[in-house]
Amino acid sequence: MAQALSSSPLMSSGEAECSIFERALDALPDGVLLVDARRKIIYSNSAFARYWNIPGIPCGSRDDRKTLAMVTDQLVDPAGFVAEVERLHESLEPSEDELRFKDGRVFSRRSVPFCELDNTHARIWIFSDVTEARSATLDHLTGLRNRLAFSREFRPFVEDTGGEYIRSVAIMDVDNFKKYNDLYGHAAGDEVLRQIGTILRSHLHRADDLLFRIGGEEFVMAVRTDRDVDAHSLFDAVRTSITDLQQPHSGNPPYDQVTASLGIASFVGGRDANGVFRTVDEALYRAKSEGRNRIALARPS
Ligand code: GH3
Ligand code: MG
Ligand code: MG
Repeated sequence: MAQALSSSPLMSSGEAECSIFERALDALPDGVLLVDARRKIIYSNSAFARYWNIPGIPCGSRDDRKTLAMVTDQLVDPAGFVAEVERLHESLEPSEDELRFKDGRVFSRRSVPFCELDNTHARIWIFSDVTEARSATLDHLTGLRNRLAFSREFRPFVEDTGGEYIRSVAIMDVDNFKKYNDLYGHAAGDEVLRQIGTILRSHLHRADDLLFRIGGEEFVMAVRTDRDVDAHSLFDAVRTSITDLQQPHSGNPPYDQVTASLGIASFVGGRDANGVFRTVDEALYRAKSEGRNRIALARPS
């Protein structure tokens, strides 16, 4: 299944050593792929073929684009996957990102370029199955990151002292949601939470924006924006998207449809994460007591 490293221009040493490298790489749980500057596949190990459900790749004989065409339909975002390969082919940067498979698997994809004997640059790609590790921080109802992820990632986001951008944090809570379950059933409530998860995701703009479901019907968004973007209008667009669902909810007067309330804060420079969370939570409480389906701005702590 794996292709012989001895046929690679990368390996100038004797055959016995090549065989050791080959056996070692085949013993790895990670998929390994080597592509040269002309985009020929120099080597792939057993795990690579297994992960992608493809037979062994003829060494040096196939353009990597043909292999891409064989595998991309397994991915949730095939266009993003191909775009990153094309971008890196023109670059000498290392790379690290994650791939989501349609069957639920999540892979980490890392790559680094290295210099071949003829001074051209080849690239080694390493694919690791991180599905189980990711599953611990995933909320299985909405597909969003869960409270465990929040507890790890919120503090560094708020306390980071670097950067000129504005950081904005929102806690969003669905209004009168207990009554929604009482009136329409728990399964219908789950479906609303799923739809809200999709809406929230559609409001993320940067790769490093954070979004979590931290409790039953409570969500946290933490985003970086340029100075000219007003956090209030950004989060009000989120609130409006939820009313745009026009999901009937007779237990949520006077709106009679599903709505949500938000507490928000914006700041530049590092802040104490507990303090920010507390003031945003107080603002959320105010939004509730002032009538729900609205945003309240946190008071400075
Ligand atoms: P408020 O407007 O003050 O937030 O009122 P509320 O009813 O939304 O708040 P409360 O905290 O009293 O109730 C939250 C409800 O959320 C209780 C529970 O039935 C519901 N809930 C929590 N997790 C889930 C879930 O995973 N699925 C469904 N369907 N409901 C959930
Ligand atoms: Mg709540
Ligand atoms: Mg609620």
